[in-house]
Amino acid sequence: MLALGASAASAQDAPSGEFTREDIELRDILIAAQETLLNIYRCQFGIDILAVRGGCAFGLPTLGMSQPAEFVGTPTLEDIEVRDRLVAVQESLLNTYRCRFDFEIDTHITPEGCPGQAGSQPDLSLDLEPMVLPGDFDGDLPPGLITPNGVSVAVAGLTDGGFAVWTPCGTVSKVSAGLPLQGIRVVVDPGHGGSYDIGAVGPNGLAERDLNLTLSYAVLNELSSRGIPAASTRTGHYGSPLSVRAAFADALGAEALVSIHHNAPTSSIGPEPGTEVFVQSVSAQQARADSARLGGLLHQEITEALSGFDNISWSRTNDAGVLRVLLPSGGDAYGMIRQPAVPTALIEYGYLSNPSEAALFATDEYIRVAAKATANAIEAYLNTDRSGTESNQQPRVFDPAPAPSSCNEVALE
Ligand SMILES: [Zn+2]
Repeated sequence: MLALGASAASAQDAPSGEFTREDIELRDILIAAQETLLNIYRCQFGIDILAVRGGCAFGLPTLGMSQPAEFVGTPTLEDIEVRDRLVAVQESLLNTYRCRFDFEIDTHITPEGCPGQAGSQPDLSLDLEPMVLPGDFDGDLPPGLITPNGVSVAVAGLTDGGFAVWTPCGTVSKVSAGLPLQGIRVVVDPGHGGSYDIGAVGPNGLAERDLNLTLSYAVLNELSSRGIPAASTRTGHYGSPLSVRAAFADALGAEALVSIHHNAPTSSIGPEPGTEVFVQSVSAQQARADSARLGGLLHQEITEALSGFDNISWSRTNDAGVLRVLLPSGGDAYGMIRQPAVPTALIEYGYLSNPSEAALFATDEYIRVAAKATANAIEAYLNTDRSGTESNQQPRVFDPAPAPSSCNEVALE
């Protein structure tokens, strides 16, 4: 990530009354550099992209660096003041982006720090006592652990004085102790996460990464209150590749994996929720029965619950429902559907890009209702043979962009 080294030029540095072209040019160079960095942030994080002249390609501004405008005429105090105001506004916007999108990069150059940054990590509300130590195990190790920092990981084995565990980035690391994840029946997967993978962003600034995490916590709490042991692939503001999330659910021997997402871009507006639930295939022609039943129950419970909210302009596509999405070559298109061996469904609850839905998704009531509906479906999947909404006959064919591969390691203890 780039950091803007130069500090803002100031009109006070110039002799009063007399201004040179150089005073103007220095400011215009700074303004162009700030604009370049703003555009890089916009393209990297998918926010305010319409403000990027020429648009974005591959996460960068298509037109490259902004060039300073050429100045003609005699510089006046007003010319200087206009530029200094713009420098200040752009600096403040840069800091807003840094604080909103990046808890790890460039925030150190934000002068006042970021408001609420310390509180941005949700409370784990997990009882980390009693932690277990490697010496507590004679034979079988637990398949997973919550580390002392609250990160959920799969256990790879024992190592000198600790547990060898798979980090969220997919490398092997050591922790000295942890809360065992044993007998887990359900794994919840809050989609996206970390600096490199924000997901959709609502017009109200709500980031999908954060909304998915909040809702996942609510689902975990709901399952725990029903006595269903559950764990999460991601417990905080960090990224994790899909392969690690899938391997975590498989390692824990879960009976169901439910991936939580919110959709974009907005489709046509109507009176019904456009909830989409993606399920697994056994072949290009056939859905996997257990995954289709899990997805059907989730779709039924969630659409029924969301329909209870009044005055929402929902967004939906024509084929919204329980769906398979296939690559042109035939396999399941989404990695989070294709990779896990455990029966999996991926839910797009609604459209975060749609202002009416984004406002709803920011409420505690939405989190409560959506979590309850999700837990109802999971409980029915585990304890009954109900099947819910029928899968669409016609699969979608789509070749999605690869998920971001960059990953920052997070401290485990
Ligand atoms: Zn998503």
